[in-house]
Amino acid sequence: MIPQLDLKAEYESVKDEIQKSVHEVLESGSYVLGNKGKQIEKLLSEYVGTSYGIGVANGTDALLLSLEAMSIGNGDEVITPPFTFFATAEVIARVGAKPVFVDIDPITYNMNPALIEQAITKKTKAIMVVHLFGQSADMEKIMEIAKKYRLKVIEDACQSIGATFNGKKVGSFGDTGCFSFFPSKNLGTYGDGGMVVTSDKDLYEKIKVLRNHGSEKKYVHSDIGLNSRLDEIQAAILEVKLKRLDDWNQKRREIANRYSEKLIGLVKTPITVKNREHVFNQYSIETDNRDELASYLNHRKIATGIYYPLPLHLQPAFHGLHYQKGDFPIAEKVSEKILALPLYPTLKEYEQDYVISSIKEFKGDSNGIN
Ligand SMILES: *Cc1c(COP(=O)(O)O)cnc(C)c1O
Repeated sequence: MIPQLDLKAEYESVKDEIQKSVHEVLESGSYVLGNKGKQIEKLLSEYVGTSYGIGVANGTDALLLSLEAMSIGNGDEVITPPFTFFATAEVIARVGAKPVFVDIDPITYNMNPALIEQAITKKTKAIMVVHLFGQSADMEKIMEIAKKYRLKVIEDACQSIGATFNGKKVGSFGDTGCFSFFPSKNLGTYGDGGMVVTSDKDLYEKIKVLRNHGSEKKYVHSDIGLNSRLDEIQAAILEVKLKRLDDWNQKRREIANRYSEKLIGLVKTPITVKNREHVFNQYSIETDNRDELASYLNHRKIATGIYYPLPLHLQPAFHGLHYQKGDFPIAEKVSEKILALPLYPTLKEYEQDYVISSIKEFKGDSNGIN
């Protein structure tokens, strides 16, 4: 079977260093909020180009803590795309605010900036922008609108660590940038982890307190916070992997380019916009007979994934928002056609060739239907 993602192969390539780094933690006797955590906060914020980093338990909490530190809650509205992982809008509802969806652009699958202004009301407090699949949203236009209406910007960069817009890394544009280290992300731990980055000292201090039960001084609690910390073992793993991230992202781009060269004309291949560097957390094609292609590939022992089959405005959990089918036609159309192919840094050329030839054969069999 060719998996969609091979985490075991990645581990094999860094095994000795990971084991050494984890061993140091085990021997240190310090397991939560220690030196490894501080070190990865420093390294990662430097990598992204912000002043501060705050390690948290996962990417979802990074988003949640950003909202809480900005005092966004009951009665507020936050603008976000309907085509993303559920967590993006989940946290908005979780703090008591209302997610207001704006349809995506069909080229990048990211929020269409031309549709943002009409969604802004007196209650709008922030834009939660998502950099989907590894490509930046249009941060020039989005930051311009945010400035004009004095809105906060939270970047959900969970899928796009290392991606750039006009040479600047995602996560460094907004008031906060949020990363997930879930194993399937480009920089993943062996468990859960996340980080908020920011250059706003006030937000940094607030989030640092909130992630640790609202406590700055031990047993004195100034806020109602959370237990959401990045533990030392995960930080030790990230320290080893961060050194490889740029190489791994480059490898992902090479594999993606090879797919696109061979599949162009056969299916709709992903487009990288000129001023952006894509990091391909997913390589997603679009095709009319998506489900048939997925099962054909599955029979040939090739795993695929669908991100995402149901846009957020149509999720049962958001029925109360009173959106309907047809409200966001691009997100809906894409969700019916999109299919992610196997892509990870250790994917072999012969494996990729097999995926490509299988798609070609399917297209031949289905006789001109595309
Ligand atoms: C993975 C992901 C999250 C959530 O991250 P977790 O670490 O799993 O909580 C949020 N948003 C997007 C776009 C993601 O891909």
